[in-house]
Order: sequence, then C-alpha cells, then structure tokens
Amino acid sequence: MKPVILVVEDEPPLQKLLAYNLEAAGFAVVQAFDGEEALTLIEERAPDLILLDWMLPQISGLEVCRRLRRRPDTSRLPIIMLTARGEEPDRLRGLDTGADDFITKPFSPAELVARIRAVLRRVRPAFAEQLLSFHDLRMDLAAHRVFRGEREVHLSPTEFRLLRHFLEHPGRVFSRAQLLDRVWGSDLEIELRTVDATIRRLRRALNAGGESDLLRTIRAEGYSLDRKHAATSAEPGGGEGGADAEPEREEPGGLSARSAGDSWPYPSPRPAAE
Ligand code: CA
Repeated sequence: MKPVILVVEDEPPLQKLLAYNLEAAGFAVVQAFDGEEALTLIEERAPDLILLDWMLPQISGLEVCRRLRRRPDTSRLPIIMLTARGEEPDRLRGLDTGADDFITKPFSPAELVARIRAVLRRVRPAFAEQLLSFHDLRMDLAAHRVFRGEREVHLSPTEFRLLRHFLEHPGRVFSRAQLLDRVWGSDLEIELRTVDATIRRLRRALNAGGESDLLRTIRAEGYSLDRKHAATSAEPGGGEGGADAEPEREEPGGLSARSAGDSWPYPSPRPAAE
C-alpha cells in the first residue's frame, strides 16, 4: 500500500508543489501548515515519514522534531527536514535534531523523491518488496497469496489489506482508528468495532492450523504484528520471560491486557518491563 507522507510546510504554493510531486511518485500525502496541526495529524493518520520544514510559525520544525523524538510512539518515525539556503545541513546535523536527513531549498522534485525512498528503504525495507514475510508468515503481493509455513491461508480482500499493512509495519502498534484510516480509508462510515471483527477473522484464518498467534492486542492502544508475542504464545508456560510467556486472551471489547512494550519498527533493545 502507498506509504503516507506528512508534509509540514506553511507556504501554500510549496505545499501544493510537494503534494503534487509526491502523489505523482506514488505516495499518499497528508498536509499540515504548522507544527500544532502536524502533531495532531500524526496522532490521527500515523504517517510513514514526515517532511518537515525548518521555518514554521509558532512551533519551529526543530521543536516539532525534538518533541516527536521524545515520544515513544514517534521516536523512530522517519523525519526529513527542509531547510533554507544558508542553514547549512552540516551545522544543523550538529544540533542533535534527530532528523534522518536534510534537504536544502530549492531542491528538485526528483532529488526529494529519491531521498524519501532512500530513508524509507532504510527504515522499512518492506515498502520495496514484493514478498513480505514475518515469522512463518509469507505474503506474495504479485500472486496475491498468503502462506503460514506450507499452508495456504485464504483471506478476504479486507483481511488481505489489513495483514499487508501489519507486514509493512512489523512491531508497530496501530489504534483501531488508525487502522480504519489506513486500511479501510477515511472516507467510509465504518465503526471501530468492524476493525475488531476483521482482526478476529484474520486471526482465525492465520491460526487455523494451530499455529502461534502473531497479532498482539494492546488494551486501549490497538494491535500489532509482534514476533516476541508469536514466540511466547507458541509455548505457553515456557519461553524465556515469566510474565511474557502467558498466552493472551482477547476480551469482549477486542483489546486485552498488555502494554505497548516494544517500539516500531525495530524491537526494543531493552528487555520489556512488563
Ligand atoms: Ca516555511
């Protein structure tokens, strides 16, 4: 599915130009005109990358970047900063902004798209792949087929899109609202419990051969594809970590007791404190 780019830029003509070029390059674009709006939209839309102008009214791009790096859910979100000529990227790098890359204005659309692709490839190799895999789960996008080990898993189109979204963002937790937006599309009038129902059907299909559950439910947070969860749910009572070895049960509301733990896109280097 299309990677979502949040463009934070206060000058409307430049916003328009960026949106046009990014959409032409196959990205979905969300636009914010100041830092406050950007922080709200990150919450709602869960973008894959942020293109962040350095010079913004009220909260500067630098401050937005620092705030995002402090929040566990956005600490690894890819950020490319746009800077004006004269704000030398080398000097800015030294400011410990946490940005993944800097692009100096004026820039060519081709260069911008290439830099975005390079950052996305680095943090999310899944975007460039035709074959997505996780644990013993494989999705062949070209053939539109899913396998759990040797067993083929048959999914509805919505279940397929939902699973593809998780495979493209392994380990990352998505709220039900974010999943609705990313998988179903924000223009549709669909209730949040539809997400729970689809997750239940997807789980049933994925685990029909008695395999471990790869989908983790996080109470009041959402869902994620979780390798550690898969490892521990395969061996209830065993595994390396006491409390982690408890198999998870789904509650009627759809969300069960477990905290966020790992941050995306990589598993936390720390042992999870749960
Ligand atoms: Ca600006």
